[in-house]
Amino acid sequence: MTALSPTVSFHDGGTIPQVGLGVWKASQEEATTAVREALAAGYRHIDTAAIYENEEGVGAGLRDAGLPREDVFVTTKVWNRAQGFASTKEAARTSLERLGLDYVDLLLIHWPVAKADRYVDTWKAMIELREEGLVRAIGVSNFTPATLERLIEETGEAPVLNQIEVHPYLQQEAMRGVNAAHGALTEAWSPLGQSRVLTDPAIEAIAAKHGKTAAQVVIRWHVQLGNVVIPKSVTPARIVSNIDVFDFALDIEDMAAIAALDRGERFGPDPETFGRVE
Ligand code: NAP
Repeated sequence: MTALSPTVSFHDGGTIPQVGLGVWKASQEEATTAVREALAAGYRHIDTAAIYENEEGVGAGLRDAGLPREDVFVTTKVWNRAQGFASTKEAARTSLERLGLDYVDLLLIHWPVAKADRYVDTWKAMIELREEGLVRAIGVSNFTPATLERLIEETGEAPVLNQIEVHPYLQQEAMRGVNAAHGALTEAWSPLGQSRVLTDPAIEAIAAKHGKTAAQVVIRWHVQLGNVVIPKSVTPARIVSNIDVFDFALDIEDMAAIAALDRGERFGPDPETFGRVE
């Protein structure tokens, strides 16, 4: 078994394993297998969401693995349609039922949907959910400088992290700086650029130099930047190799070569405008 991922600390004193498994686009069955494989390979952190429609599958994988509950960090997210005070509380309870858990380690607002203007009420509900013990930590996803600042200004409560799209083609230096200024970690979604950065010649050259895969180089780059990182795979060999990134380091030239790949290219929606609520 690969060594466990190190943890990084939240501003509230909690911790999160820096490398986790994402399960977006995995079916219920795929999620069960992927979670089981990941936990056997040393992962202790799983990232799902209500909208992925695989929370039951994730829960089954967690039960199959049979680890003590406190050894595994589980994140889920409140979908846009569920935003608002009462509906967020209901959505969190429904997610817990689907997962078969008494609590999640982290609950995120999936997107701010600034136009609908319900994210502050959503956040207030999440603060109460934490007080009720149903969630251990609360955070956000896809928050922009303006939405993040308003959330904190109106509630006095900063998220423990902001999960945003980050990969070598979209390095998000400014937004990572805003997160850090508020004490929030940056968690990278689509950290492999949905696999599209893996054939970049610069990444391939660094991989050859270290005798590692392109995915391991990109995951290691996230780790060295201080990002929490949740590569998704349903392929057992990839699940195993993606967390095997703690026995080598990228040097200053490698980091500079990857920094030079930034081109502001998004593979997902722009959080400034994304407003899907169905
Ligand atoms: P990703 O992790 O960047 O890439 C996943 C893709 O790369 C899959 O097609 C996977 O294929 C492939 N892959 C994984 N490891 C590989 C390897 N070692 N070699 C070659 N290919 C490899 O993309 P993502 O799923 O979009 O993002 C990761 C997670 O972030 C999601 O699962 C989800 O948990 C989260 N996320 C959050 C948001 C948000 O709005 N908060 C948005 C998007 C994603 P196989 O699975 O077939 O192996």
